[in-house]
Amino acid sequence: KTLDTAKALAYYSNLPVIIVPTIASTDAPCSALSVLYTDDGIFDEYLILPSNPNIVLMDTEIIAKAPARLLASGMGDALATYFEARACEQSGALNMGGGLPTKAAMALAKLCFDTLIADGEKAMFAAQKCVCTKAVENIIEANTYLSGIGFESGGLAAAHAIHNGLTALEECHDLYHGEKVAFGTLVQLFLENAPMEEIDEVLFFCKNIGLPTSLEDLGVNSIEREKLLEVAKLACAPEETIHNMPFKVTPEKVLAAILAADNYGGY
Ligand SMILES: [Zn+2]
Repeated sequence: KTLDTAKALAYYSNLPVIIVPTIASTDAPCSALSVLYTDDGIFDEYLILPSNPNIVLMDTEIIAKAPARLLASGMGDALATYFEARACEQSGALNMGGGLPTKAAMALAKLCFDTLIADGEKAMFAAQKCVCTKAVENIIEANTYLSGIGFESGGLAAAHAIHNGLTALEECHDLYHGEKVAFGTLVQLFLENAPMEEIDEVLFFCKNIGLPTSLEDLGVNSIEREKLLEVAKLACAPEETIHNMPFKVTPEKVLAAILAADNYGGY
């Protein structure tokens, strides 16, 4: 919220912006967009900025001392990057800058995912003790740089649209962006009928670093299909990135994927 506000303000004031994050909880620092929310905290729209921040400067010693949950949340946000870019590549959708994804964008997105799998758990063990290790440094790069440049150059798809739908649930308001995106990623994998092996890799990664994998984990204790259909409908709003998926997506398909992912993730 802070960084997106700073970026938007710099844009409207016609000033350069230097981002110095003290946490690595989202991929907002490097990206050339701000997410706008309504006063009630519901996703409103993406403000696409004409350029990336002038400087992004991160002191890994400071970031290692932040609550570990924030680093895990950043990994949840970064987790979606590769799968959303892959969907955009398959469908030929445009990236956040309005261009076609390059091979470089895909390579960054894949490196982002591979870094999470290689170093995510190790980084959490260190972050829980507020110390900086090589794994923490690698995860800070994955969460901030690889994911930030990866998502805007590769494009967004279902995971973030489902996150945006989830912002309508009061129960989810205490959760961080990346925590909802992590569940959105799991839902996207069910939606696109990804191989079971891949779903398991993502699921166990989330469980191992403490990211939510079910509606109960998200704080949604009673599953009312009517409410979830509203979430699915919001995720399928006409301007949403879910339509970058390589097949036609309807609220009914999204609802089914949410329920199936919840059933497996809560197991
Ligand atoms: Zn995000």
